[in-house]
Parts: sequence; C-alpha cells; structure tokens
Amino acid sequence: MSIAGFHFDNSYARELEGFYVPWKGAEVPAPRIIRFNRSLVLELGLDPEVLDTDAGAAIFAGHDAPEGAEPLAMAYAGHQFGGFSPQLGDGRALLLGEVIDSHGKRRDIHLKGSGRTPFSRGGDGKAVVGPVLREYIIGEAMHALGVPTTRALAAVSTGEEIMRQDGPAPGAVLARVASSHLRVGTFQFFAARGETDRLRQLADYAIARHYPELADKPDRYLGLLKAVRDRQAALIAQWMLLGFVHGVMNTDNMTISGETIDYGPCAFIDGYDPATVFSSIDQYGRYAYGNQPQIAQWNLARLAETMLDLINPNDSDDAVRQAGEVIDGFPLAYERAWLAGMRTKLGLVKEEPEDRELATGLLAVLETQAADYTRVFRSLAKAASGDAAQARALFANPAGFDVWLPLWQARFAREDVAAEDRIAAMNRVNPVYIPRNHMVEAALGSATKGDLAPFERLVDVLADPFTERAGLEVFALGAPSDFGPYTTYCGT
Ligand code: AMP
Ligand code: MG
Repeated sequence: MSIAGFHFDNSYARELEGFYVPWKGAEVPAPRIIRFNRSLVLELGLDPEVLDTDAGAAIFAGHDAPEGAEPLAMAYAGHQFGGFSPQLGDGRALLLGEVIDSHGKRRDIHLKGSGRTPFSRGGDGKAVVGPVLREYIIGEAMHALGVPTTRALAAVSTGEEIMRQDGPAPGAVLARVASSHLRVGTFQFFAARGETDRLRQLADYAIARHYPELADKPDRYLGLLKAVRDRQAALIAQWMLLGFVHGVMNTDNMTISGETIDYGPCAFIDGYDPATVFSSIDQYGRYAYGNQPQIAQWNLARLAETMLDLINPNDSDDAVRQAGEVIDGFPLAYERAWLAGMRTKLGLVKEEPEDRELATGLLAVLETQAADYTRVFRSLAKAASGDAAQARALFANPAGFDVWLPLWQARFAREDVAAEDRIAAMNRVNPVYIPRNHMVEAALGSATKGDLAPFERLVDVLADPFTERAGLEVFALGAPSDFGPYTTYCGT
C-alpha cells in the first residue's frame, strides 16, 4: 500500500491485455492542487492529508505514479458526428488504476490531460484550466442532481503554458473517477478489426463489472445489450428532465455503465427549446437537446452491431433480428423513464393516461414563451400550494400557462396526497440551482486569471441543488439579458 492509501486492484490491466498500452504521464514543472474533492477522496479510502498537497498534485497530474498504479492508455474507436474513426483511444488521458471504494464498488481513477500517448494523433495530450474546471463544475453538479456520472476527484494546475486557439492557457489535469471507462467505442475498436474473441472477452468483462446478474445466462450478450439500453434510456431521460445538453454524444462518449462521461461543450438550457445547441462544432444540431434520445438509440445500434457474432455466432439473420428488437425497445424504455420523472416533477403520484399530454402541454407553453425551464418547474411547488404568481411571472405572456394551470390542478386534486408532501417531493427533483451558463463562464473566466473564489463558491452552491438558501438568489436566476446566445467549445 502506498502512503496515500491507494489499494489498487487493476482488473483492466490484468484481464484485458491487448486492450491498452501501458504508459506514463508526462512530467510537468509545478503541479498544484486547484480543487480537491475531500469527500470523494474519503469515499475511495484515500488519505486526504497526504493527497491535498503538492505531492498529491504530482500524482493527480500524472507526474508521479503511486505504488500499485499501472497507468495505461485505453484503446477505443468511435462514431464522431456520425462518421467512424477506427482509432481514437486515450490521446490525453490515462487510467491510473482501480480501487474498491468504501461501499465495495470498483472505481477507475483516470487522469485527463496527462500528456501524449500512442493514441494522441495530432494532439498535444494536454488540457487547460478552463475546460478542466468546467468538467469539475458540471460533473459534480450532475452528481448532486442525482444523475449517474463520472466524478471529479481533483483538478490540478501543471505550471505549464499550453498553446490553444486563443493563445497560451494555463495547463491543468482533471483526476476523475468512474465506475469504468468502457465505452461503446471500446467495443467498436475490436469489432472494426474483426477480433471476435477479444470482443467476447470485453463483453464478459463488462458483464462481470456492471451486470454480474447476467454472467451465467446463456443469452448474456443479448442481456448485456438490453441492460445497456435500459441504463442509457434512464440516463438520457434524466438529462432531458433536467435540461442538460451533453453536446458530443459520439459513441466514444457513451459508457457501458450508463454514467455520463466527458463533459466538453455541455450546458443546461435556460429558455425551453428542443432545438437548443450550444457547441460551436455542432453545426447541424445533431446533438441538440431534443435529439438526445434518438441519438442514444442510434449509438445503441452501433453497440449492437459490434455484438452480432456474440449474440448468435451461427445465424447472423437471427442475431440481427434479436438485436433489432432490443434497439426497437429503446423508445419505450426511454418514454417510461421520462414520464415517470415528469410525473414526479409535476408532483403527481398516480398514473393516469393523460399524464403525457399534461406534461407536453406545459412544455409547449414553455416553448412558445422560451420560459426558463428550471425556474418554471421549481416554481410549480408554490403553485401546488395555491400561489401561482411566481410561476406566472416567468412567462412574458401567461395566457397559455393560465389555460394549463387548472388542468394540472384538477389532475392532482384527484390524488389523496397532503399538500406539504407533494411540495416536498417536487422540491426534491426540481432544482433551484443548476450550473447556469453565465455563472459558469464568470467562474471560469476568473479562475483562468487566477481568482478561484467564484469557482469555489459555484461548486459549493451546486453541491446542494435542491435546498433553497437565503443569500444565494443570484445563483437561481436566468442569464442577464446582455449575456446573449451561449456558445461552448470543446476546449481540448
Ligand atoms: P473528446 O472529444 O475529448 O472525447 O476526445 C475525442 C478523442 O480525441 C479522444 O481520442 C481524445 O483522447 C482525443 N483528444 C482530444 N483532445 C486531445 C489532445 N489535446 N491531445 C491528444 N488527443 C486528444
Ligand atoms: Mg471523449
């Protein structure tokens, strides 16, 4: 055991030789902690006193490997904006190793921005402080919002200047934690090379790690596909219910575990509009807010294609038919998860056939008014107690809302639920605080100039998104009118 308390147990390195390249992080001049996730460090059984130091920063930067780590760059492929790249892989990242956390769960510790690897292609293998802190803010916010996600363990600066499009920027590395880094693209890498034995090995590994209940089943590969479908459907439903736009739903950014991964040009919508796109490179809106469920299904189909030989090695028509049924089941799995979530957001307990129409009716009103999605849903709790003034005020023209409101009130009047219970349940799923684009930008702008206070404050506020607190009103508001349309960049 190393002095920081790492008890590595590196199953990927041990069991999947040939699926990665053993590699080392680059040396950097002056690794320093920018932000340290103490509670997550404790959850991993690590020693915060040892790690919240320059020595810890050197580990999180990839500069020093702790005892027992077997750093490696994982191979993967992927469809990027619909086009297939047979070789992507960890071009600026390393899997440091795996640890078993205090709940007995296996977690990857992964470094992003730790230098060039054999998969770097033309890239420099580095990351800069803005995008690293952005992933920190949004990933931790997603966790607090209850969404399965990779977590930020630490953000460190490296003391390097990195050349980027807008000039030099301070170098940084994000140490993050995931239940694994298996991606749809990992399967695609071996499928594209026709390596069926390796694919089987990978699928068995994925089953053992994420879906162990399938391990002894004769149809376990079809079961794996179904399980991934259901986790992805539930995940995307959560994104949609919260107004989250991932922005780069390439197949290499889709996990087998069902966790959100790779926070790049992602952002939350404010005014409700399904066509919302933030990413500067998403010119055709492929990854627009409203397209995310279909894209997830498309990505699932790419996963299914890699598994046909495993599903039925003797009859490819039968394999295609079985996989097709699973893929065709995605919309229903998604719809169920989404509608269940919408009922909770609307404070409904019972299921009624008109619930979908009730929910989409509100969304239609929001859309015509570009009303603030998060604020309207949060204000519905007050409206449920009879005070709809706050909700009404969020619409430039409340006429449509005034038509919808009595329909909703009539609906919950048919339920035998105490008002305070309904309100409490709604407030547990409709956040007050989300990473508002203007707040994120302000925090990153200050951090890049060396003032970390707004970043620290934002991370702290977002750690408890459902509890309204006095003094934090500014974090709950929409962007000021002069903020304008918001564009995000991949920032690699
Ligand atoms: P991403 O868009 O961050 O998911 O990355 C897509 C692919 O590009 C992955 O294979 C990354 O490892 C690679 N990549 C992104 N940025 C860099 C960089 N600065 N240097 C090397 N590879 C990179
Ligand atoms: Mg990625």
